[in-house]
Amino acid sequence: MTTIASNLQAVRIAMTEAATAAGRRTNEITLLAVSKTFPAEALREAYQAGMPRFAESYVQEALDKIAALRDLPVEWHYIGPIQSNKTRAIAENFAWVHSVDRLRIAERLSEQRPAHLPPLQVCLQVNISGEDSKSGVHPAEVHDLAVAVAKLPNLKLRGLMAIPAPGDDVAAQRTPFARLRELRDQLNKQGLHLDTLSMGMSHDFAAAIAEGATMVRIGTAIFGTRDYGEQNS
Ligand SMILES: *Cc1c(COP(=O)(O)O)cnc(C)c1O
Repeated sequence: MTTIASNLQAVRIAMTEAATAAGRRTNEITLLAVSKTFPAEALREAYQAGMPRFAESYVQEALDKIAALRDLPVEWHYIGPIQSNKTRAIAENFAWVHSVDRLRIAERLSEQRPAHLPPLQVCLQVNISGEDSKSGVHPAEVHDLAVAVAKLPNLKLRGLMAIPAPGDDVAAQRTPFARLRELRDQLNKQGLHLDTLSMGMSHDFAAAIAEGATMVRIGTAIFGTRDYGEQNS
């Protein structure tokens, strides 16, 4: 087995253990392979090992890989920061976007979504631990944004995403994930229909699964350590 294939297997086993410990079924939780900074050949290898979903954080890098892997029925997820001048490329090339945090961006994505494609599946990124102040909507503002985004014709609002501040202690890791779940539940009581909690990365996916994650976004544990080189932005 290749390293990527055995890493994928190890992640799936760890996901199953975390789900079982939480009294959940593994098939309630979708594994997303975060492939930013890795070359198309690494994604192809992961695809051949059974991974059909990749998440990218940089638009131009993603477009190159999407072109290189045209022959595979990959489901592409965008999880990075969204600049206004990149919304068209995102609307045209991705199935999901996890990082919507303002209405103007959502409106552009809806306007620019090609008519022949299904609605773009959207999560709102929430600034849940109040640390990374540059991205994510404030929890107090999520309701109004969700109501507005849910009305846009070519988007399908699916749920919430968060990237909590990193920490090693599993008990402490659970707190922000629990907060995101509570926020989702509260929105659903207020009439929204959110089925997705996109939360959990390589170092904290067990805690996220314990708190109800339905999608975990895992890069390092599948592909290895990233070398940003001059890519970093
Ligand atoms: C890079 C990234 C991940 C994956 O992080 P790992 O620690 O490598 O698993 C998940 N989510 C987002 C938004 C990212 O940018």
